Amino acid sequence: MLDLSFESPKPKTIPGAKYDWELVIGMEVHAQVASTSKLFSGASTEFGNEPNSNVSFVDAAMPGMLPVINEFCVEQAVKTGLGLKAKINLWSAFDRKNYFYPDLPQGYQISQLYHPIVGEGEVIVDMEPGIARKVRIERIHMEQDAGKSIHDMDPNMSFVDLNRTGVCLMEIVSRPDIRGPEEAAAYVVKLRQIMRYLGTCDGNMQNGNLRADVNVSVCLPGQYEKYLKTNDFSHLGIRCEIKNMNSMRFIQQAIEVEARRQIGILESGGVVEQETRLYDPDKGETRSMRSKEEAHDYRYFPDPDLLPLEIEQTWVDDIASNLPELPDEKKIRFINSYKLTEYDAGVLTADIESADFFEEVAKSCEGKLAANWVINELFGRLKKDDLSINASPMSPGQLASIISLIQSEEISGKIAKDLFEIVYVEGGDPNEIVDSRGMKQVTDTSAIEKAVETVINDNPDQVEKAKMNPKLAGWFVGQVMKATGGKANPKSVNEIVSKKLSL
Ligand code: MN
Repeated sequence: MLDLSFESPKPKTIPGAKYDWELVIGMEVHAQVASTSKLFSGASTEFGNEPNSNVSFVDAAMPGMLPVINEFCVEQAVKTGLGLKAKINLWSAFDRKNYFYPDLPQGYQISQLYHPIVGEGEVIVDMEPGIARKVRIERIHMEQDAGKSIHDMDPNMSFVDLNRTGVCLMEIVSRPDIRGPEEAAAYVVKLRQIMRYLGTCDGNMQNGNLRADVNVSVCLPGQYEKYLKTNDFSHLGIRCEIKNMNSMRFIQQAIEVEARRQIGILESGGVVEQETRLYDPDKGETRSMRSKEEAHDYRYFPDPDLLPLEIEQTWVDDIASNLPELPDEKKIRFINSYKLTEYDAGVLTADIESADFFEEVAKSCEGKLAANWVINELFGRLKKDDLSINASPMSPGQLASIISLIQSEEISGKIAKDLFEIVYVEGGDPNEIVDSRGMKQVTDTSAIEKAVETVINDNPDQVEKAKMNPKLAGWFVGQVMKATGGKANPKSVNEIVSKKLSL
């Protein structure tokens, strides 16, 4: 098994506090399964449709309607579990979580409380090269999403849109292993990356298909280690849950603000109440939504409309053997086979499209050089135009040709940048462009010698100075490069300048 050794980051503390309170964070991430139909009905899941147009009788909870499980959704949950190196439960079951809300016509949500489809797993959360946190996954269960109440369309009425009702969510529950706001965001980034590689969730936070509930508490140094040894949560302090956040920035802000609030209470001798809170980004504060509910408040019971979900080990094995290469493995392979730094490999494997693009380039030129050009030049240029890698006007083949021209010393690094810009903007075959526009590097030493002599003869004062101070030779090199339009081989120019100035 390939592995990359790493150290765990230090837990985050809050500056300005009297004691070194450490943050303890557990997350529940709701990831919408990338399925075109819902978990228990055939209605569409398309985003942005007319309100209430993606609603079947099952979703609207008409009397006598029965849910029928969507096999594709089950497969995506299994795939996600395998991607998180988790145990797949061949026997799982659905329960009703009862509560009243206008956007929940059934009066209950179908979820998996007692027997989730996926058990314990883990995620490596990369912070910086050599620094990462292993976050344990407790479980993943499948459940229905609710609809949406709309309060801002009419001064006197609220509306309900059931398009989202019954869409399949995977709720990914972590252990409280996350120790700071940055780690929490990095954890969600990593989950999203893995699910995008797997194709099980689009991870589009603006469209609400990735939302996070964050449990935050604070404890004194040494308490977390006690929890790890005993599995006794009381060492971790009393936690508050901040609901439904759909941006990385808000997740970080909310954790920081909530930790400060709890420390303020504790340091003034108070007690933190366990509750569910909401983050208000405009005011930069969390506020109480309701006191923390327990499972029994929901009167969970096994859904009598659905049989237990039984899947075959052979089916799971089949899915496992068809999993794509995942980000961690791809990163390690890039480091080993292309001799990349961990940082570069991390950038290139951030999404599968960038990784594929890079590998296509590296097929026909040197890997390290390919990585530099993809990361520094291409990504930089795409960013300037606000384009994704899929929309790159330059193909991997074109970039590889440019890099090959550098490798064979036919063009200099400087000319290569000009060539890159021409190919990026105008397109075309880099080899033909180099020929037709006379961009080839001058390696003919007699031509370079002539250019050096001209510069020396024209600048006797500089020659005198350079003889006193050999560092000034660089000025001659610059003049020669200028005179040759950047096409002279810089190494030859350097050598010839030194020789002619007899330094
Ligand atoms: Mn949930």
